Amino acid sequence: MKILVFLEQRDNLLKKSSLEALGVAHRIVQGHGSVEALILGEQAQALCEQAQGFGATTCHYVQAPSLRHYQPLLYKEILVQAIKQLQPDSVLGMTTPLSRDLLTRCAAALKAPLLTDLVDITAQEGRLMGGKKPLYAGKVLATLTYETQGVKIATLRPNSFAAEKIPGTMTIQALPLELPSTAMEKIELTEVRKGKSQKADLTEAARIISGGRALASADNFAILHRCAEVLGATVGASRAAVDAGYATHDMQVGQTGKTVNPTLYIACGISGAIQHLAGMRTSKIIVAINKDPEAPIFSIADYGIVADLFEAVPLLTEKLQGILKE
Ligand SMILES: Cc1cc2nc3c(=O)[nH]c(=O)nc-3n(C[C@H](O)[C@H](O)[C@H](O)COP(=O)(O)OP(=O)(O)OC[C@H]3O[C@@H](n4cnc5c(N)ncnc54)[C@H](O)[C@@H]3O)c2cc1C
Repeated sequence: MKILVFLEQRDNLLKKSSLEALGVAHRIVQGHGSVEALILGEQAQALCEQAQGFGATTCHYVQAPSLRHYQPLLYKEILVQAIKQLQPDSVLGMTTPLSRDLLTRCAAALKAPLLTDLVDITAQEGRLMGGKKPLYAGKVLATLTYETQGVKIATLRPNSFAAEKIPGTMTIQALPLELPSTAMEKIELTEVRKGKSQKADLTEAARIISGGRALASADNFAILHRCAEVLGATVGASRAAVDAGYATHDMQVGQTGKTVNPTLYIACGISGAIQHLAGMRTSKIIVAINKDPEAPIFSIADYGIVADLFEAVPLLTEKLQGILKE
């Protein structure tokens, strides 16, 4: 059995969550096969080093200036060629905008079955059999199984699996394949505009503090940023806060925003509408600060603070500063 893990890079930085897929692949094949990885990029060879010690025996790379930014058709063509050449039984990637797009295109091109956004996997003798996926805003977990033969493709929800250090050596090698011409792209990349830099992307963050409509202004988000600084957290927002212009869209958590899965999620002045819960209910520990004791967010919170956030957050920041300094 062989599993190929697509390791994603952005701006020549390996996505931390990709390493989680290596750990999953290692658990699937244990004693029954091998895990190989693939990185595409402008400096892909150097990035392979970062995958060392996470369970892969070989890290393949395809390096070219044209692979600097994600080009859907070019990347798909290369991944399809790599799959044909390496003949894996399964291909894993993470549920990120890039990998979700890419692996869907590959699955269509190869007529291979695709399961997306898995938070658990089932395997038998090194073979990926299926997995579990949250549906209806996380209210149910659907159990999905592959029914066809041939290569199986899956994407995994970030932060649902641990990226474990696994002893072993890994070979780094260039994948010898014909690089398709960029002229094949029907999509032209004209410009890459970066959003305001955040500490860690919300989908990768281990700690998140989010604010809702109750923040009442963009300036008031400063109290969340201060707390985030102390906690090493990333700041998120509800859609109401984004729509009101208090926060930018890349900060939105929820059904029409980002799906996050941190170890700690602190919701400040967020009521807990189902569309918000859809993006954060699988967080490991949820803390809610809300002055309404009946707010629905308390029904899924592990810890609830019934208080005015403008008093509670600065106090929490101060206490955390003291505790984390010790
Ligand atoms: C198709 C669709 C998609 C959507 N997608 C999303 C999405 O992706 N993400 C998302 O978040 N929403 C989404 N929504 C909107 C969602 O339904 C809610 O309207 C939104 O989440 C509410 O945001 P909120 O909790 O910040 O505001 P509110 O619901 O107005 O809640 C504000 C809360 O703050 C509390 N509060 C007020 N003042 C204070 C204070 N001083 N201290 C402490 N607490 C205080 C109040 O008690 C209240 O609970 C979507 C809606 C639709 C229809």
